[in-house]
Amino acid sequence: LVPPLMQRQGEYVLKRLQEHGHQAYFVGGCVRDEIMGRPVHDMDIATSARPEQVIDMFEHTVPTGLQHGTVTVVAEREMFEVTTFRKEADYEDHRHPTRVEFVDGLLEDLRRRDFTMNAIAGDAGGNLIDPFDGKRDIEARILRCVGNADERFDEDALRMMRAIRFASVFGFRPVKSLWKALKFSRSKISFIAIERIRVEFEKMLLGPDPLRGLALLQRSGLLPYIKAPVPSAALRPLAGEAALTAMRTLAAVPPEEFPELRYALLLQGIGVGGDEAADLMKRWTFPNAIAQRTADLIRFDELWKNRRAEAGGSGPLRKQWVELQLRFGKQMAALWLKRERTRLAVEFTEDPDKLQAELELMKQSEARWHEEVPVHTLKELAIRGEDVIRSMGRKGGPWLGMLMGRLLFLVASGELANEREILLEQAKVVVNEDGTS
Ligand code: ATP
Ligand code: MG
Repeated sequence: LVPPLMQRQGEYVLKRLQEHGHQAYFVGGCVRDEIMGRPVHDMDIATSARPEQVIDMFEHTVPTGLQHGTVTVVAEREMFEVTTFRKEADYEDHRHPTRVEFVDGLLEDLRRRDFTMNAIAGDAGGNLIDPFDGKRDIEARILRCVGNADERFDEDALRMMRAIRFASVFGFRPVKSLWKALKFSRSKISFIAIERIRVEFEKMLLGPDPLRGLALLQRSGLLPYIKAPVPSAALRPLAGEAALTAMRTLAAVPPEEFPELRYALLLQGIGVGGDEAADLMKRWTFPNAIAQRTADLIRFDELWKNRRAEAGGSGPLRKQWVELQLRFGKQMAALWLKRERTRLAVEFTEDPDKLQAELELMKQSEARWHEEVPVHTLKELAIRGEDVIRSMGRKGGPWLGMLMGRLLFLVASGELANEREILLEQAKVVVNEDGTS
């Protein structure tokens, strides 16, 4: 479950630390994931060595978080975060400690960790040091704080969001005392920076059971206290056929490949339109590109539904498809088709024959659209903007871009042949019609 090179290099780092007279263990997520039989993606190491000593001991290190006692050790192509045993002191305003204190023993280092399953250490021989019975909780699929839940959430309110993330991603049941403490402390989430909340939210939403995560989040009562806008519909239990379909589709799209599909479905499920989506996501500190793609996906869907309704809901809708493809680009169209396929799969789970028929229909129309759409970009048109300017004897301006877009649409939708003379002729007609002089 640990990639062999990572395991070998990790053991090498432990050994080297020990040879220099220090204690060293694997800790946190990697130990937990290994016990759970999940693939390990990185290995964190805790040690009694001070950061300066770690830096001296290895050839290639990066001082990634010296103020927290963390040095990244690079061994061949593998990287390990090596952190000095520490406890956290002086929590202020229910968030990040302002100061960390190095401590002598592993036990104290494990005690500062959030949940029992995250407070297990392992040595190079695979022996576990598990003072809080994390393994027992993992086996019982239980989420429990290390120590008193009220105190732990009071120290660092982000742990409440992490609790919901872990409960949802692993399908663990929070113990009663944890859930009670979480509800009691929920207003303190307002002290936490939105980007830290977003990181946990993302892991939850892109995990294997986002609907459980969203349900827990709703039941927790955290949402109203998060210091970034949360659409009002998200605060109420979801209702309505469209919302439910969006949510069920959300759970069925593969998140690794297409995170923006999940975001788009969630936002649509809670009634956020394409024009509000990008702004909302940016305030939640999502990267700009993801925010834009998510908003475009929603707009694509909205526009498609509008056009279909205008056309009376039937027929091949070829022109409408061409319009959307030109407007949003092929990639967005492909992403939206992925969404549609998933939606069909969700809607017709009970009726595999119908599903097969629908998917086949979609495949055929896709192939036809693809073959039949002769041009996709302005570059492929038989004339350039300069040709129009020359033939019409006019100065360039915004009218030209609009005209070229119109010509592209006419050629793409099959109404006009992609030939120079025909296009120049049509250009005159369009300009006269629009009266854009
Ligand atoms: P993932 O697989 O998502 O990386 P992880 O358990 O490794 O999960 P990280 O956020 O990478 O989570 O944190 C590494 C370890 O640091 C955790 O396992 C936990 O022991 C400790 N930790 C992280 N955040 C907190 C926190 N807010 N309070 C207490 N301990 C924490
Ligand atoms: Mg981690």
